[in-house]
Amino acid sequence: MIKKNYILAPGPTPVPTEVLLAGAQETIHHRTPQFVNLQKETLEKAKMLFQTKNDVLALVSTGTGAMEAAVANTVAKGDKVIVVDGGKFGERWAQLCKAFEAEIDLIKLEWGDYVKPEQIKAALEKNPDTVAVFATHSETSTGTVNPIEEIAAVVKDYKALMVVDSVSGLLAEPLKMDEWHVDIVATGLQKGVMLPPGLALITLSEKALARVNECPNKNKYYFDLKKYSKKYPDSPYTAGVNQIYQLSAALKMIEEEGIENVWERHRILADATRAGVKAMGLELLSKKPGNVTTAVLAPVDTGKLTKLMRDKYGVTMAGGQDDYKGKIFRMAHLGYMGKFDTIIGLAALEMAFNEMGHKVELGSGVKAAEEVFLKEGV
Ligand SMILES: *Cc1c(COP(=O)(O)O)cnc(C)c1O
Repeated sequence: MIKKNYILAPGPTPVPTEVLLAGAQETIHHRTPQFVNLQKETLEKAKMLFQTKNDVLALVSTGTGAMEAAVANTVAKGDKVIVVDGGKFGERWAQLCKAFEAEIDLIKLEWGDYVKPEQIKAALEKNPDTVAVFATHSETSTGTVNPIEEIAAVVKDYKALMVVDSVSGLLAEPLKMDEWHVDIVATGLQKGVMLPPGLALITLSEKALARVNECPNKNKYYFDLKKYSKKYPDSPYTAGVNQIYQLSAALKMIEEEGIENVWERHRILADATRAGVKAMGLELLSKKPGNVTTAVLAPVDTGKLTKLMRDKYGVTMAGGQDDYKGKIFRMAHLGYMGKFDTIIGLAALEMAFNEMGHKVELGSGVKAAEEVFLKEGV
């Protein structure tokens, strides 16, 4: 059987042909006015992604580079920080803060749980001199969305900065940086923004920039954001020239669809996926499932399940990590996806479960998803 490839993993996500072709243009020199103007125009337009008036800075790195920049520029040795750890990526904030020798108050959550504003409030009351609260918008390892708007509303009355990893969350979940009083957002573009891996964006509020200017940490170089701010819209080092072409093409697509419609599309795809897996008799891991990826507890070894789907059917989904390795699979609905991507994923699951000896009624998940799409009129 011919095997087509379908990426239903939460990053990297499928890249539209328009974006791929935009990257195939001539690489011009990054110090030319032509390029600097294009980068300016593109980064200005990228403000829409964050719903912000702040400058958006481009880093040639993956999302973790933007996260490291957020920590390296705001945290010095011995500073108090609060870290929300609800999974693999919350843990990454904690590891980064540890690398910069912060004193960490860790809000450790069960996998699948989300942080409550009262937990943040209590931690800030205990240590009002906290310099930053680090949280994950969409915890990709558990398919959980954290209530960023509510926790930012708490943090804004303290000295601390509200710092958000929205690497997977951006575009799949609404995010209104300025309205919600978020101080730093870090993201990578190989997820909702539909680029190949390699470009990250970070944006800082005035409160965050003030902290960056006074932060005594000297252990940074490539990710020293003062250099990026000073050079903007030029870059301190070689810019990601072809990636900026690609970002420009992706932003054009997002603008044409409308950002509210992009958020809504992710909501509908996630609803259909949740309905589909529940109709197959499966349970979700998350207490507050988001619109990036659906993490599902499975009655079979999900390492084998995802391997069967990938190698035999061409359908790539993610398995589980750490304690959930082999126990969950994660079906994404992130980025360049429409309803038939979801249908393909659910059909592949139905077939793979049966092939592995776990009986699922064929068509049950697909039917439930189709009903959601018909009800939504999409
Ligand atoms: C993918 C992801 C990252 C960053 O990973 P990179 O591999 O460095 O791009 C960070 N946080 C979350 C929540 C993610 O999903």
